[in-house]
Amino acid sequence: MIPAAFDYYRPNDVKGVIALLNEHGDDARVMAGGHSLIPMMKLRMAEVPHLIDLQDVVALKGIAIGGGRITLGALVTQHELIDHDGLAQTAPILRETARQIADPQVRYMGTVGGNVANGDPGNDMPGLMQCLNADFTLVGPDGERTVAARDFYEAAYMTAREDDEILVGVSFDAPKGGQAYEKQKRKIGDYATAAAAVVLTKENGTCTSASIAMTNLSDIPVFSQDASDALIGTSVEDNAIRAAVAAMLKDIDPVEDNRGPVAFKQHAASIILTRAIKSAWDRA
Ligand SMILES: Cc1cc2nc3c(=O)[nH]c(=O)nc-3n(C[C@H](O)[C@H](O)[C@H](O)COP(=O)(O)OP(=O)(O)OC[C@H]3O[C@@H](n4cnc5c(N)ncnc54)[C@H](O)[C@@H]3O)c2cc1C
Repeated sequence: MIPAAFDYYRPNDVKGVIALLNEHGDDARVMAGGHSLIPMMKLRMAEVPHLIDLQDVVALKGIAIGGGRITLGALVTQHELIDHDGLAQTAPILRETARQIADPQVRYMGTVGGNVANGDPGNDMPGLMQCLNADFTLVGPDGERTVAARDFYEAAYMTAREDDEILVGVSFDAPKGGQAYEKQKRKIGDYATAAAAVVLTKENGTCTSASIAMTNLSDIPVFSQDASDALIGTSVEDNAIRAAVAAMLKDIDPVEDNRGPVAFKQHAASIILTRAIKSAWDRA
């Protein structure tokens, strides 16, 4: 289908973007890679009279690694996450996650900022960012503010971002220990039926820290403190993994849809989390 008519803008700095958002209010939307927004516009599920393309805003690009902290500009693409040697060394879970998103064509265009700002429960980056305990940096007419990824999601497509703000970047401590992102999907290129992000540290055979988050098993990404706690102090033996899975199942809230009934999703979530924990533990 062809989208409704819209005016197109291409500012080259954040100030210009905010000014346009201010001027046009609810009628304006920013576009990053366009691989979520354009399909919505074509299906007429989103009407955007004023479309603000972010591609010329250089300040939103780039990957910075230093002092144990990683910062990704909002316009960093999923392909860049896969291709970046420094990230492969410091946070391999980013590459592992990005490789399971869609297909190469989508990954060349789809951005970190678009993926996390969209609020689509099916997107993989929001769950990953819960696991990494990332901070999201937003800029609006009143300046800059930071929102924890774990506080950002309110409901499907509803986030803590105000309409006149944009996300400029995400940052997080370089994860220590073993990391794994496991995803079950109906076919290559599909959104998750269930996915799990796990980071674990191991000292003398004991798990000293754990972070577990799940994707597409609720209307927001789910960080499970109880599942994480179930592994700490254990040697991540089968009993501990079962306890973590049981805790995770209490925190998710899947609904029946064309990916399956609730019981199937709970089963898929259990298998996927078990795999991710075992994989992260082997790598720790
Ligand atoms: C066939 C197909 C399969 C896909 N499969 C997956 C998958 O398996 N997993 C997955 O995670 N994703 C998947 N996607 C989505 C893809 O990763 C998207 O590109 C991504 O989610 C959105 O990034 P984008 O840069 O294209 O954002 P856009 O489409 O440009 O924008 C998406 C939304 O975010 C807003 N936005 C964008 N950037 C900003 C910003 N900096 N600040 C504030 N708001 C912003 C826009 O206004 C819009 O509402 C798939 C897409 C397609 C087409």
